[in-house]
Amino acid sequence: MSTAMVEVRSVHKSFGSLEVLRGVDLDVRAGEVTVVLGPSGSGKSTLLRTINHLEKVDSGWITVDGTLVGYRRSGDKLYELREREVLKQRTQIGFVFQNFNLFPHLTVLDNVIEAPVAALKRPRRDAVAAAEKLLARVGLSDKADAYPKQLSGGQQQRVAIARALALEPKLLLFDEPTSALDPELVGEVLDVIKDLAASGTTMIVVTHEIGFAREVADTVVFMDDGAIVEQGPPAEVLDAPRHERTRAFLSKVL
Ligand code: ADP
Ligand code: MG
Repeated sequence: MSTAMVEVRSVHKSFGSLEVLRGVDLDVRAGEVTVVLGPSGSGKSTLLRTINHLEKVDSGWITVDGTLVGYRRSGDKLYELREREVLKQRTQIGFVFQNFNLFPHLTVLDNVIEAPVAALKRPRRDAVAAAEKLLARVGLSDKADAYPKQLSGGQQQRVAIARALALEPKLLLFDEPTSALDPELVGEVLDVIKDLAASGTTMIVVTHEIGFAREVADTVVFMDDGAIVEQGPPAEVLDAPRHERTRAFLSKVL
């Protein structure tokens, strides 16, 4: 039995003449944390976005929990899923962005219940009860009625994490979740992510926080120029990198 939560196979993606993913292969096992490192422009965000089908791949394929992302197989043929089916697949994957992307006109509580009520048609009362638990989990029980602009960046990002968890996703994707934060607020967000990791949530985290990678990652992936240069446990990739490009990158961020 396979325990792969994510399989990425030979994925290529170009924007015009710019090839951004040049044949990416990646496996993420259920319950594991994968940290993706790499210079700006190396394709990290695009890789996350293809896993969520926010970007279509040009070739190759991706599965999440054994299901093809964005396509349905029939015999030897692949058929593109309709938008509605894509949206349904997407509800099983949580995405946390660098800039939080909260709805500014909704309270914290309403941000967290929006997707369960609108997308999953959960009864509002059940969604509120679940949201209250999630807000407690990220340490924001007292902010349920606040609006995003009344919160610090660290608090907004913790709301964004609660909102992602509200769909009970199989997989969580984080795209530089602490890059937009003042340094003193980074720790509170990383602590929430560490807590999720300890509870067995499968996630892929793009970050430049090497200490976090060393502590939390099962696998560290180093990307450069649209390809995975090396991957392995933190003790290998961070402390004994085999490739010159990995060493050069680490010497800049450490
Ligand atoms: P990273 O997250 O590692 O910084 P990205 O995946 O965001 O890298 O981007 C990789 C390359 O693809 C960059 O050169 C970027 O400018 C380009 N790119 C990303 N998205 C688009 C897009 N929608 N249209 C055109 N170029 C894009
Ligand atoms: Mg990026």
